[in-house]
Amino acid sequence: MNRPPGGDVPGVDSPGASPSRRLLARIRDIMAEADPRQQRLDRIVRLVAGEMVAEVCSCYVRRPGDVLELFATVGLNPSAVHRTRLRIGEGLVGEVAATGRPLALADARSHPGFAYRPETGEDPYQSLMGVPIIRGGRVRGVLVVQNRHRRHYHEEEVETLQTIAMVVAELIAGAVARGEMAWHEATGNIMPMRFAGASLNVGLARGLAVPHRPQVTIRDLVAEDPKKEQARLETAIRGMHRSLDALLANSVAADMPESRDILEAYRMFAEDRGWHARIGEFIRAGLTAEAAVQRVREDIAARMEHSTDPYLVERLLDFDDLANRLVLHLAGRSAATEPNALPADTVLIARTLGPTELLEYDQGRLRALVLEAGSATSHTIIIAKAMDIPVVGRCPGILAQVEPLDPVIVDADDAQVFVRPTEDIQASFEQHMALRAERRRRHAARSQLPAESRDGVRVSLWINAGLLADLGHLHHTGADGIGLYRTEIPFMMRPSFPDVAAQAELYCQVLDEAKGRPVHFRTLDIGSDKALAYFGRAEEGNPALGWRALRIGLDRPHLLRQQLRAMIRAAAGRPLDVLFPMVTEVAELDAARHLLQLELAAAEAVGSPLPQSLRIGAMLEVPAVMWQLPALLSRVDFVAVGSNDLQQYLFASDRGDPELAQRYDSLSPPMLALLHYLVRQCDAAGVPVSLCGEMAGRPLDAMALVGLGFRHLSMPAGAVGPVRAMVRSLAVAPLTDYLEPLIGGSDHSLRLHLRAYARDHGVEA
Ligand code: PEP
Ligand code: MG
Repeated sequence: MNRPPGGDVPGVDSPGASPSRRLLARIRDIMAEADPRQQRLDRIVRLVAGEMVAEVCSCYVRRPGDVLELFATVGLNPSAVHRTRLRIGEGLVGEVAATGRPLALADARSHPGFAYRPETGEDPYQSLMGVPIIRGGRVRGVLVVQNRHRRHYHEEEVETLQTIAMVVAELIAGAVARGEMAWHEATGNIMPMRFAGASLNVGLARGLAVPHRPQVTIRDLVAEDPKKEQARLETAIRGMHRSLDALLANSVAADMPESRDILEAYRMFAEDRGWHARIGEFIRAGLTAEAAVQRVREDIAARMEHSTDPYLVERLLDFDDLANRLVLHLAGRSAATEPNALPADTVLIARTLGPTELLEYDQGRLRALVLEAGSATSHTIIIAKAMDIPVVGRCPGILAQVEPLDPVIVDADDAQVFVRPTEDIQASFEQHMALRAERRRRHAARSQLPAESRDGVRVSLWINAGLLADLGHLHHTGADGIGLYRTEIPFMMRPSFPDVAAQAELYCQVLDEAKGRPVHFRTLDIGSDKALAYFGRAEEGNPALGWRALRIGLDRPHLLRQQLRAMIRAAAGRPLDVLFPMVTEVAELDAARHLLQLELAAAEAVGSPLPQSLRIGAMLEVPAVMWQLPALLSRVDFVAVGSNDLQQYLFASDRGDPELAQRYDSLSPPMLALLHYLVRQCDAAGVPVSLCGEMAGRPLDAMALVGLGFRHLSMPAGAVGPVRAMVRSLAVAPLTDYLEPLIGGSDHSLRLHLRAYARDHGVEA
């Protein structure tokens, strides 16, 4: 990411008009009074109409069922108050609420969205300016002024009304706090709601909603003493600088110039004078320091929405993030302390979530994850599987409908989420939980039985691991080993690169826990969506096709060598299996093997104990290498098919893109034909082959894999029981006969055929 130095930040360098301090002070006084909410709102709209020199000022509040109710007005017909209701999106007021953006129209009636409401008597008014009332990142209502004669509202006037709307939002919140109004009533969110999405990791859970990165709620907006607020701001800015310096000092300094660049650019923005001046302007106008930061942040958000320039958006995003940090500092909290405030049963709700972000949450408190987007083979979901939490994705709009700490039931078995569930939903949830627990008990009881088919084919079942917590599963699932140990996951959970000693200790722990069962240690597979916060990299247009996995290892050989050294050290006297990810051509494998040989020789030279045996494996994930299979297979002791990446490269279809998640099927003829070819080549070369992508953990997919000839499958621990049950209920030979002619066919998918086959043959899939 190359950013020019300098502080000319778009949108934060030109202080605009603010309401007079006198007006804000008067609004604050009204808010503090004991009058009922209605009277206070009435006085505020009168005050605002005067300040804005408008004949009309009206306040609409969002009510249940997503309607906007006229709550107070001066200028419109008083009898319309609490009678006039508009749907979100209806008329100009509804449009402001729907878009969350202001509207300023000299000729409102010629606007296509105009909707006339006779009961309000708004007929004579030509011009309209409306701004959303936003609190906690959500639209809570709309504040409108209207003028009888044609008037062009200036940008500064729109800004003034926005600042007032922020204060009005507080009045509504204050009414909630005093019990005069239920917050849900004000937001329309008291109704139970069901969201149908996509199951990204099966399971059931209940808990309390925690929106990811919620906006910090600012309680005091209007300040008595601007000097004091300015001083608070400066202290907070200094605190923020200190914490950014610490982050910078922690970065991988000389070794990783890219990461330094990014952090330094970010640190530089934190000092931007235009940004500070803009915040100071709002403080002088009478806002508290946090309200002023928030106010500038809203401007930036609006500019971000309009900008199509990716460079600009990136810079503005940095400011948005900095504003969040600054508000946290003003509240005396740092980002790092936030997760401790999580409820014991947290259902995390996010639009999207990176794998590192998920790992930042306290695992002991996470019960489920709900995403507005999301796709099953993204690394975030793989980590959620390692955490054994259910995930429902593709629930657009859920964040807008859920309030923090709302009760939520996540039923990922049926791909649905219940927000504020009714009693009968809760009762049926309890029943489902009981059934699930029963099924788990049955699987556990069979965990020591071999995964052997009805016709005597033995399939070895392994687990995929990455978190230390996964290791416990090895024993109670009765798995045969760890077919994929994702070493990048512990890297992602740390603030900086672990040194050789720390890595060796971890790998040693893994081998200890495995108690002699094999562990395939995959070398660092970072890049694409698996970013390390401390390993900054240039922006890539196509990260999934970019600098990742073994490519990084070979270009930064000291990193890979350190990791191999740690593995050799950890395995001293025990067998070691090393697996290289994303091998694209044989030359890459040779280069990696060479680094391994160098480390072995170095260990030998200093007399360190060597592994008892060493097996080298390659992951088959990139189609190109399929045309070098004989050479590849002659150089390895085992191979593992990474079907997640293989599928994405085979179909040229981003595995993390929710829009494409269901477009191509793992059970399609091209994918199955390729896998069939691979198994036959490996069998012919006498090289053991396993498959460790998400397919292996889905019983129906696993059934097809066994039918194609796979005898080693590695999967999330939770899938071992169901896959074992599938294998034990299957006769392999007839399935192979059934499948082989189909994989050469032209169907889009064989899923329905296979489901019917399983049903007709009593296979538990
Ligand atoms: C795969 O690609 O199938 C795989 C197992 O690796 P990862 O999911 O970690 O990329
Ligand atoms: Mg992969």
